[in-house]
Amino acid sequence: MGGASMGRSGVAVQGIAALDIALWDLKARRAGLPLAKLLGAHRDSVDVYNTSGGYLSMPIKEVLENIDLARARGVGGIKLKVGSPDPSIDLKRVEAVREHLGDDVPLMVDANQQWDRITATRVGRVLENFNLTWIEEPLDAYDAEGHAALAATLDTPIATGEMLTSVGEHAVLIEAGSSDFVQPDAPRVGGITPFLRIAALADHKGRGLAPHFVMEIHVHLSAAYPRTAWVEHFEWLEPMFNERLELKDGRMIIPNRAGLGLSLSEQAAAWTAESAVFGSGA
Ligand SMILES: [Mg+2]
Repeated sequence: MGGASMGRSGVAVQGIAALDIALWDLKARRAGLPLAKLLGAHRDSVDVYNTSGGYLSMPIKEVLENIDLARARGVGGIKLKVGSPDPSIDLKRVEAVREHLGDDVPLMVDANQQWDRITATRVGRVLENFNLTWIEEPLDAYDAEGHAALAATLDTPIATGEMLTSVGEHAVLIEAGSSDFVQPDAPRVGGITPFLRIAALADHKGRGLAPHFVMEIHVHLSAAYPRTAWVEHFEWLEPMFNERLELKDGRMIIPNRAGLGLSLSEQAAAWTAESAVFGSGA
């Protein structure tokens, strides 16, 4: 399917990812192990952060309220969106959030590729004062050289990789020294099999791991990563499953159920079919 004629990225690869992830889930179920344990877990829980509705359009008062709700739920780290047309607005918001959190709570910012190299360097220098855990996607997702220069310039760690769609694309950025935290997205890169290749490259180069989105899969993959690893908390997919991932003291607990540890909710199950026939059948 897909790869040969449609290229090694995009919708064909995301189609393959669904099958790849289902097969890993099945393999772990057959072994009677949570996926993290099948892969060789290094921990029983993973540091968890979320964006708490800290989006650019949200007034700071609401951002701070959302942060308190997230922290009360057991989320450990807080990520704030930056990349406003006027960087001084970003800096004021970061300052307000850092003051609200105190010095010890992990805080990250995410620019979603909004800066050019000069802006990223200038804003990044000011951000050094806030003890950030990382600055995410400061530049265009494919600008390996720019990210590497920024990572060399700043003490604050750089994170990037959520937009990349293959092992090869990740390899280019990892080899270039583009980031301190590598951020693959298993469904986007073609599933757990390619994700593990990216993780092996990142480990070899001594990088941290902070996968993008889909905590239901990534909690297992981050638990099985030998170095610093985070998981990103998102409620968005929760209606699809009967189970809920447990948060405690700033960490997400690896479910002790076999496989991914998930079963489809009635709502999601209604979208599935027992079997399907492709082509005309003639
Ligand atoms: Mg991001």
